[in-house]
Amino acid sequence: MAVNGTGPYDPQNVFARILRGELPCKKVYEDEYALAFHDIAPKAPVHVLVIPKGPFVSFADFSSKGTEAEITGFTRAVGRVARDLNLEAPGYRLLSNVGVAGGQEVPHFHVHLFGGRALGAMLAG
Ligand code: AMP
Repeated sequence: MAVNGTGPYDPQNVFARILRGELPCKKVYEDEYALAFHDIAPKAPVHVLVIPKGPFVSFADFSSKGTEAEITGFTRAVGRVARDLNLEAPGYRLLSNVGVAGGQEVPHFHVHLFGGRALGAMLAG
């Protein structure tokens, strides 16, 4: 079910629990600012989620409240994950759903990183 992208942060959301080590994930990369792991229901041959370590509900929240260091660190981590997965040369897609109209389901900011095939039209319909 889609969630509000501007509401208060729920520390029990699934990605908060992954960050605390309470739930497992298939980790791809981790540093001070970001954690990257495989999506549990991949929609492309490569479908990785990159999340910031701080408690941000959505891109709306992160872009307004994240510190310069958090925003820079997170952005560099996303680029590094794409590079490490050899997605730069063939190309890839970044996507972040925000709020109800965006179809966001997990209320912790995340970027989807898709690759491994030609990804087709930007939106399904
Ligand atoms: P969004 O609609 O942008 O909020 O996408 C949430 C994504 O999180 C979906 O692609 C789910 O498949 C994925 N997801 C949900 N729970 C987990 C989990 N425990 N581990 C990895 N991915 C998950």
